[in-house]
Amino acid sequence: MFRAQTSIWAKFLKGKYCRDQHPSLVTNRLEDSRTWKSMLKKRTKAEQLFIWEIGEGRKNVWLDNWTGEGLISPPTDSHFNSTTQKSDLWSANGWNQQALQNILDNRLINTIMKKPFDRYRKDKLIVKKKVSQTFLAFIANLCFPESEISWTKCVWNKYLSPSMAFLSWKLLYGFIPTDDILKLKGLRGPSRCCLCKCEEESLPHLFFKCYQA
Ligand SMILES: [Zn+2]
Repeated sequence: MFRAQTSIWAKFLKGKYCRDQHPSLVTNRLEDSRTWKSMLKKRTKAEQLFIWEIGEGRKNVWLDNWTGEGLISPPTDSHFNSTTQKSDLWSANGWNQQALQNILDNRLINTIMKKPFDRYRKDKLIVKKKVSQTFLAFIANLCFPESEISWTKCVWNKYLSPSMAFLSWKLLYGFIPTDDILKLKGLRGPSRCCLCKCEEESLPHLFFKCYQA
């Protein structure tokens, strides 16, 4: 998960593309990779799925969703600046109510003050309750909406060599003469995957299941 920064991959992307900037403020550059550009494209929608559970309070007050109700706008007449962290809203005895009143309405302040938190624990990114059960399906649909999938574009594009594109096309339409296809045409015989020798040779086995392929 990129925003949680729990993997080397996430740390690498942040170091390469965000440097000192907050991930919400980074903009597209011509030389960026396709993966990064598509992540930026989905950023706003993806961030609506998460909320920061308050711990040490190192997240940005304005740019990280920690209230559960989206981002909050900085007041124009306040002394808070763009790098204000949640920990700036605390005093020795807990929340600094005066500081909270400068940026939140009373209803939200009441909700926040009721939530228990441990200042010695790291801030934690959690999935909002309403999307947690179908989280993977939700993410998949968000990133690859059904209407946008075009098999033609997946197969015939400038990133695949003609021979790879032709193989993909044959795979898509079942034109690769594996034993399961030959069997449908009446050519029956003993069949074993030539790599693992564990199962019958078939398209799903060769391309998706075989542990040696
Ligand atoms: Zn196999």
